[in-house]
Amino acid sequence: MVTAAGNPRMLLRRLRDIMQERTSAQDRLDRIVTLIASNMVAEVCSIYLMRHGGELELFATEGLNKAAVHNTRLKKGEGLVGDIALHARPLNLPDAQSHPNFVFLPETGEEPFQSLMGVPILRDGLCLGVIVVQNKTRRLYDEEEVEAAQTIAMVLAEMVASGDLVSPTELEETGIRRDRPWRAKGSAIADGVAIGEVVLHEPRVKVERLIAENPEVERVRLETAVAELRSSVDEMVDHEDMELLGDTKEVLEAYRMFANDSGWLTRLREAIGTGLTAEAAVERVQSETRARLMRHTDPYLRERAHDLDDLANRLLRHLAGLADTSAGALLPDNVVLIARAMGPAELLDYDRAKLKAVVLEEGSPTSHVAIVARALGIPLVGRIDNLVDMADSGNAIIVDGERGEVHLRPAADVVASYRAKLAVMAQRELEFAALRDAPAETADGVAVALNLNAGLAVDLPHLDETGAAGIGLFRTELPFMITTRLPSLRQQTDLYARVLTAAGTRPVTFRTLDLGGDKVLPYMHMEAEENPAMGWRAIRISLDRPALLRYQLRAMIAAAAGRSLNVMFPMIAEVAEFAQARALLDAELARAASLGKTLPAAVRAGTMLEVPSLGWSLRPLLAIADFISLGTNDLMQFFFASDRGNPRLGDRYDALSPAFLRFIRTCVDAADEAGKGLAVCGEMAGRPLEALALAALGVRQLSMQPHAVGPVKMAIRSVALAPLAAFLERHLDDPGHSLREAFRGVAEAAGARLG
Ligand code: PEP
Ligand code: MG
Repeated sequence: MVTAAGNPRMLLRRLRDIMQERTSAQDRLDRIVTLIASNMVAEVCSIYLMRHGGELELFATEGLNKAAVHNTRLKKGEGLVGDIALHARPLNLPDAQSHPNFVFLPETGEEPFQSLMGVPILRDGLCLGVIVVQNKTRRLYDEEEVEAAQTIAMVLAEMVASGDLVSPTELEETGIRRDRPWRAKGSAIADGVAIGEVVLHEPRVKVERLIAENPEVERVRLETAVAELRSSVDEMVDHEDMELLGDTKEVLEAYRMFANDSGWLTRLREAIGTGLTAEAAVERVQSETRARLMRHTDPYLRERAHDLDDLANRLLRHLAGLADTSAGALLPDNVVLIARAMGPAELLDYDRAKLKAVVLEEGSPTSHVAIVARALGIPLVGRIDNLVDMADSGNAIIVDGERGEVHLRPAADVVASYRAKLAVMAQRELEFAALRDAPAETADGVAVALNLNAGLAVDLPHLDETGAAGIGLFRTELPFMITTRLPSLRQQTDLYARVLTAAGTRPVTFRTLDLGGDKVLPYMHMEAEENPAMGWRAIRISLDRPALLRYQLRAMIAAAAGRSLNVMFPMIAEVAEFAQARALLDAELARAASLGKTLPAAVRAGTMLEVPSLGWSLRPLLAIADFISLGTNDLMQFFFASDRGNPRLGDRYDALSPAFLRFIRTCVDAADEAGKGLAVCGEMAGRPLEALALAALGVRQLSMQPHAVGPVKMAIRSVALAPLAAFLERHLDDPGHSLREAFRGVAEAAGARLG
């Protein structure tokens, strides 16, 4: 018997010739069934394609009744053709009629046929149709014939996906075309709204050439690309800090497992053997494996299907000689980056001026990429399932970082309403920008210094952009968290010097390492703790392992040579801890002096007040501390015994409760009495109404995220403090849950602009 197995390449070559003809798609399909039937010496070859409602329609046949074409329809799962589509796998049956799923379709005239071999037409793991061949005699088609049919199916899949046979609208139903609007809700991780264009962080390679000119060349290309892929995966696994790349250990291990799986490589080689290019072979094998994995009910296996997609994509990029990410590519001006996961270093590789938003399938508020996105001031939405599959480069997209929503390929009315929203926001930004150089002073002449919270070099431009008075909190742990190893003394010194230089005459307060809790260093071993927020963290680590803190203080002292240095210690719970920390600072100053180094022109040492116990030691504390800064994020959680990261408790207690305000008032009075500075640097300070309450209680320094400076300045300037202070004075002992609404009423009555 002359079969395709004898000459699958010849079959493919003839297929390619047909595909290149300038006839209609239906014509080509008719020629293809004839070609397959004669090449495989089969009496019948038919092609069914998936239509509206998930039905398979006979589109072309050689050997069956032609009148059945476009009339015969089968449901997915119905008959043998439906069975192949449902399970997305080939069937090879010498006695088809004895198969439990056999159904007799009189209109096709298929009665006399005994044997049947069919393969699904797959693309991206989705079934677009089925090719079947049938013979009157009992016949088991050999493996190579099945292979050849699968290869043809792959070529047909491209033809179907182009939309010439089944309309693009119908194809959307299969999920193969990504044309429709798609809306999804995930979690809001970094604030802001953006309209932009999708850029896939890991670009998808479009396979253009399916049929090989020279299979030997393709084989060599495949082997080279696989070798490159394996070594790059090994490198990733060996990378000390996988989070930098956004990948978790589990995913990388899965990559490694697949990349070294001999079955995968064998299937790729076999696919090339049938005459496909290396790229087409990767796509075909990927599509088949994906189809298999996606049918599993086990979520673990379905997750691995994503890993295999990623890996196949990586292999395609190696074949195409493309970089693994889009960072170096020519990008549009309004990039919305889309990825499964991403590390902070990867995000920083992109041109900041073009980056408008990031959307991830994974991602959490405490992930490192989230920290960087917030520092860059770009919205980030996480936990959007199937995002990468649904999006194509160049798609329009809206990212709502406030609601945690994305609108992919949005309808015109959605675009219009977001444009209107952005216009309002831009208008407000203009108003804030106009206030940039205006003093942050209330209508009755009280000045409140508005400072920035920062932590990375990328934050520094915000100083000039916002017109902030200085940096009230520089979180030094952030640079430690986004690098692969402990920053050297030199690197730390350079960064702190850069910060001081950028600030110029504006004051900067460096907070020493606040590690532990959710802030972990990948390169530092930390024991798992039952209750990490109240565990071995921040100053507790620093005092138990003073080398790290001394190193850091040494870098700060060197960086501030001849300039002012303000150092602040985190999570101090008792005065003795502060004294100990300050002694380390003094020791480092003495060391620098003994080495003849230029010392800072002035040194001030203060503490965060985040642990309520310190509120009962203010007098002795302020006798030796130069300033205190209320970290209301942690302070609230300890004050109310209410986890700051637990969304169920998010609204349970209010910062504007009488108890909390009373506590702040106590701190303000103590600082005033001691003649020392008091600041508030938790999130509370960046909210206009809260900022007014703090100012009314006597706080004169607030430190906040850059985007909060404008709204807070507007609120401060809009109102006289005296009536607000008088109101709070009268109500600090109220028994209610919160003074918020009453205070808002008073503030608004006094003319406050609260944004
Ligand atoms: C705080 O706890 O309020 C604070 C500013 O510190 P962090 O948010 O870094 O814990
Ligand atoms: Mg804190």
